[in-house]
Amino acid sequence: MSELLAGLNNEQLRAVTWPAKSALVLAGAGSGKTRVLTTRIAWLIATGQVNPAGVLAVTFTNKAAREMHTRLGAMVPVNVRTMWIGTFHGLCNRFLRAHYRDAGLPQTFQILDSADQQAAIKRLLKSMELSDEKYPPRAVQSFINGSKEAGVRAERLPPPLTPYEAKLHELYAAYDAQCRREGVVDFAELLLRSYELLLANAALRAHYQGRFRHILVDEFQDTNRLQYAWLKLLSGEHNVLFAVGDDDQSIYAFRGAEVGNMRALLSDFQVAEPVRLEQNYRSVGTILTAANALIERNDGRLGKNLWTDAGEGEQIRLYEAYSDGDEAQFIIDEVKSLQREGMNLSDMAILYRSNAQSRVLEHVLVNAQLAYRIYGGLRFFERLEVKHALAYLRLVSNPDDDNALLRVINVPARGIGARTVENLQAVSREQGVTLWQACCAAGGGRTAAKLGEFVLLIEALRAKAEGMTLAETVSLIIDHSGLRAMYEQDKKEGEERLANLDELINAAAGFFPDAAEQAIVEFLSAASLEAGEHQAEAGEDALQLMTVHAAKGLEFDAVFVSGLEEGLFPHENSMNDSKGLEEERRLMYVAVTRARKRLYLSCAQSRMLHGQSRYPVRSRFVEEIPAELVRVLSATVKPVPQNTHRRAPWLDEVAAPAVPSAQLQGFRIGQSVGHAKFGSGVVINAEGSGSDLRLQINFAEHGLKWLDLRYAKLTAE
Ligand code: ATP
Ligand code: MG
Repeated sequence: MSELLAGLNNEQLRAVTWPAKSALVLAGAGSGKTRVLTTRIAWLIATGQVNPAGVLAVTFTNKAAREMHTRLGAMVPVNVRTMWIGTFHGLCNRFLRAHYRDAGLPQTFQILDSADQQAAIKRLLKSMELSDEKYPPRAVQSFINGSKEAGVRAERLPPPLTPYEAKLHELYAAYDAQCRREGVVDFAELLLRSYELLLANAALRAHYQGRFRHILVDEFQDTNRLQYAWLKLLSGEHNVLFAVGDDDQSIYAFRGAEVGNMRALLSDFQVAEPVRLEQNYRSVGTILTAANALIERNDGRLGKNLWTDAGEGEQIRLYEAYSDGDEAQFIIDEVKSLQREGMNLSDMAILYRSNAQSRVLEHVLVNAQLAYRIYGGLRFFERLEVKHALAYLRLVSNPDDDNALLRVINVPARGIGARTVENLQAVSREQGVTLWQACCAAGGGRTAAKLGEFVLLIEALRAKAEGMTLAETVSLIIDHSGLRAMYEQDKKEGEERLANLDELINAAAGFFPDAAEQAIVEFLSAASLEAGEHQAEAGEDALQLMTVHAAKGLEFDAVFVSGLEEGLFPHENSMNDSKGLEEERRLMYVAVTRARKRLYLSCAQSRMLHGQSRYPVRSRFVEEIPAELVRVLSATVKPVPQNTHRRAPWLDEVAAPAVPSAQLQGFRIGQSVGHAKFGSGVVINAEGSGSDLRLQINFAEHGLKWLDLRYAKLTAE
């Protein structure tokens, strides 16, 4: 047990061993929130307070969930794969798969990622004969998602105030009907459907409330209203919600996240006061001082202090480039020199505010022949050829999936033109059938023959796939759909696209479904859920490139924050209102606090963006960092860095599995106890033996105490 808890500071220890009551850990960046959360799960299991099936843990990204799996697996001997650890979407998907009937979904329901959803909306606009200039699909999409995230169905919307609004309402209802017909759900629907099911079905609710004794949430500041309502419902009256978060890192308000959820948690779950962690273990002093100075300018903070004993470290480096190309060159030169000093590429990250900035960086990186990996950007599962192959796979699993059918009905080209597709859509609309059904029912004639061939192809694939493994099915699809032949003839991009298709077969081969007969469906869900973030290939040492949003929760020895220009960072859409600006400043705070040892800030005096040259001024965020912390690098003299950098040693540290508690005079570690003066608490450690036995207790109201059993009267609770 003590191995598990070794190295934690007092406040962390208090949070990890918090009695079985709800809690909010409110603490700044790098103070160990995620570490506390993971260790608490391990500790609850190791002390027998909960079995692994009784834990539900929510992380912000799939990457974070995988990391938690790895860490936990090293700390406690349990099969972490079976545990409910994942993102909100991932967990809701799992829940709906298990209860698809009750949720009113087909067993093979598919998930629409954001691009699929937009395509579906475009299709809908067309069928309703609405112009997508007047109703931009993106605006419709964000209206629908916003309503779902607020938990509001189309029929429950408040009466529309304008004809435009009335149309949006109508679109929302029609979109949902279309999704139902095709057996697909979007991301927001995953959550809303799960929530509604739990709310409506008392037996299910009782089951899950009884099961998940401990619910733990990372990055709680970024939960939206619906997610919070879901957590609250799931936790019921008796269960424990343990949330960690940092109001200063709330960066998803634009998507409906509510910092107010923190206050709500305190009152809804009767938490007297948040636990605060104040020691930062990530960054050197200079970086931390800069971060604190920045965030102090925001109003209405819940307030916290962060300190470090890691020493001042080096100054922050600032480089003002002539152009975006010059900026990229500077960054890559610095990366190379850090690499020569012994820093791994994977311990360095280039962060930017907007995805469009990565193009120039990539250009220089390719010339410099440095390995790099982009998180965000165009992700593997979003690449064209991969989406084509997945669309065939979706049709094999469910031919009524209109999105999938439209994507590949004429890919590779098989003489089914836009006209034919429009006719099909008209039939589908008039008769209320799916496109697949319309294809099957097509009458005679030349085009009908073409449609007939397509129907036969899909049916043949379905028949052949019967009894095949997932990887065999994917391989079959790529070969027999004609996709492989098509790319083999493409001299320009074919090679890369074929490589990606082969990579898809590899991904299928390495995929382990929970239920073998559901392999295709599970694989497709994983692909949709992954589409939100790129998964790095394991093993290769590569420089990390990502948006600041995607960097949340991560850390690197060296961080480059690029494009620090007014209009870019802070973003022009947010510059004119104080709320927007504060969110941008929190984003900057997130960026700065990713760095362990070295931080670079850069900007350019001219930049090409969206096809236009701009001559921006330096970001106000640069000016907000105290000048004495910053060393300005001139464009001509390149600095020669002094220190060598190594990976932080604790990264390799793996806690040993806990040992069963020895004789503790009838008490055990993890046990709830009562004390006349200190109230209720939980036993977290022991020292000595026999009459010298001392127990360490974490009291809910009075904190950590060592008690000598000769004097202290403890009662078991
Ligand atoms: P963020 O707000 O950015 O998500 P966080 O509060 O979740 O940060 P962690 O990522 O858990 O912070 O921890 C930051 C770093 O400090 C990690 O590398 C972690 O392993 C390390 N760390 C945390 N606590 C300790 C400790 N007691 N001793 C040594 N290292 C620690
Ligand atoms: Mg964290």
